[in-house]
Amino acid sequence: MEVPVFDNLADGLLMSGVQAWQSTGNCLDKDPDLFFPERGASTRAAKAICNACEVRVECLEFALENRISFGIWGGKSGRERRLMLRSRREVSQRSSPDLTIL
Ligand code: SF4
Repeated sequence: MEVPVFDNLADGLLMSGVQAWQSTGNCLDKDPDLFFPERGASTRAAKAICNACEVRVECLEFALENRISFGIWGGKSGRERRLMLRSRREVSQRSSPDLTIL
């Protein structure tokens, strides 16, 4: 998969469709490479910035809803978001069992 390259994170956010919360993120004036690290690079600095961000919940939900698989969004990596989505699916399936097997 080709990973998009942005001059700054604001451009990245614009590319994905601006939401009101995106204009107040802590990352807007930060180095985007922190949030889109090379495979195996540390995500600690980006996550620390996210943890202090007032729109963290909105950011994470946006990434989950749009199945964004790369980068740190809402303090979570792509792998962590995939696990969250899987967990949500499992909870949803448990709370809405398939009645056709009765
Ligand atoms: S949670 Fe992180 S990636 Fe999302 S807007 Fe805030 S600082 Fe940026």
